[in-house]
Amino acid sequence: MQTIKVRLKTNPYNILISESSADFVAAFKKVFRAKNIFIVTDSNVAKIHLKSFSDILKKAGFQTSFAVIPAGESGKSIASLSSLYDKALKAGLDRKGCVIALGGGVVGDVAGFFAATYMRGVKFVQAPTTLLAMTDSSVGGKTAVNTSGGKNIAGTFYQPSFVWINSFYLATLDERQLKNGLAEVVKYAFTFDKNFYDYLQDVLEKGIIGADEFNYMIFKSCSYKARVVEKDEKEVTGVRAVLNFGHTLAHAIETFTKYKKFLHGEAVAAGMLYAAKLSLDLKLCGKETFLQVKELLTAAGFVFNFKNLNALKLLELMKKDKKSVNASLRFVLLKDIGKSISDAEVKDGAALKTLKEFL
Ligand code: NAD
Ligand code: ZN
Repeated sequence: MQTIKVRLKTNPYNILISESSADFVAAFKKVFRAKNIFIVTDSNVAKIHLKSFSDILKKAGFQTSFAVIPAGESGKSIASLSSLYDKALKAGLDRKGCVIALGGGVVGDVAGFFAATYMRGVKFVQAPTTLLAMTDSSVGGKTAVNTSGGKNIAGTFYQPSFVWINSFYLATLDERQLKNGLAEVVKYAFTFDKNFYDYLQDVLEKGIIGADEFNYMIFKSCSYKARVVEKDEKEVTGVRAVLNFGHTLAHAIETFTKYKKFLHGEAVAAGMLYAAKLSLDLKLCGKETFLQVKELLTAAGFVFNFKNLNALKLLELMKKDKKSVNASLRFVLLKDIGKSISDAEVKDGAALKTLKEFL
């Protein structure tokens, strides 16, 4: 078992990395004394893991009820949220109750927003089941649902009481979804840690990833995410911006392809390669660094196919990104592996020139 502390002033909490349900129950009993637990999951995870998960809690003496939202991004909706309020009321969840998110980032985001607002806020625990959720979305307290106007339009910051990460759940996740999560893992290596880069290069090239390797990747990723979140809980000081490495272009690609063609991690992988090329073209880093980024992304299994992407349109979308200030382009760029520059302003012409060569 490994524990990472997220030292927030008002809501400090632990991230527990353990394959033991006894560890989970012990941690749960520490933060939560009432009996009533409401599990939120999605239609895929419900089929595979809901029964065994709720049995763990029942055996420990808790009363559980659950709600299932549709799997995938379409489940991250006001309709899902609304159904949770109704189901929780029917299940008798009161203000002393606790909500557990059992699932990927979609479940975590919806259940978190629900927990933040149900009866003005009930306790919330994250039990992430995708690599992306284990290494990124379950930590940091961002919760949201999409509206017809766009992604993450309604949401709030709401920290969990703790996060239980059991990499055992990854055994049922398909390859594409695993790779999706790996994009965020390599992001931490590119921006923070050359030794972690070397480790990942070695492991991913060999292609043998077992529980120990996953647990180490999760531990490193969550540690970096926790450190950043501690310094900038609500994304106001700009420290948290470093987590957006690769994300400026990724968000533009996702919008351009209407979230249909690429998974988030696939778009981020492309965005990171582009940011590394931009760093090279702007002479912030050497060729070696760019090639190292490319090598690790390739070892992680990303192939880059940018057919039908339009450079001018992507530039326009990047300028509309909510992270842009006064419509000037901002990127996280690299000086070296493990050394990043947050919030670098880049001229439109330079960004477009690199983009045209890149696509
Ligand atoms: P997801 O939640 O849609 O899960 C991906 C797929 O895997 C789904 O079909 C799901 O049913 C299935 N699945 C989940 N766990 C499984 C398991 N153990 N075995 C088999 N199948 C399983 O997607 P995701 O990539 O986990 O999360 C993406 C969402 O997270 C996006 O909505 C994104 O906006 C959000 N996100 C939030 C934050 C944050 O800080 N809150 C950060 C990054 C991403
Ligand atoms: Zn991301």
